[in-house]
Amino acid sequence: MIYVTLFWLLFNLALIPASYRLRACFAEDDAPRSCPTCGCCERVDKVRDSDPAWGVYESEAFCANCRTSVGYWAHGYWDPSYRDDLRREYLAAAALLALCLTAAYGLFDVTAMAA
Ligand SMILES: [Zn+2]
Repeated sequence: MIYVTLFWLLFNLALIPASYRLRACFAEDDAPRSCPTCGCCERVDKVRDSDPAWGVYESEAFCANCRTSVGYWAHGYWDPSYRDDLRREYLAAAALLALCLTAAYGLFDVTAMAA
């Protein structure tokens, strides 16, 4: 039971910097704020679909520094999958870190060895 509690505690602790990082990278409407790869705040928009009468339908945002695709805008909305992918990445990293730390704690736990 102690390991489950410890894992949960470490997992949540590891998620604190991840949530700050996520908020630094994406705005509330999923618009890219800064590049998750290099942290650059400048972006270059490339028009993917447009019409001379209506204007731009779809455009893709790239990081101005490392050219990573950081977002996709279509018909007034930003694609939420960019934010979701990064969130999933952070969740997996936090879980792995917490698992490793819990395992390390178990290895050096004297009370567990004595039992
Ligand atoms: Zn970048």
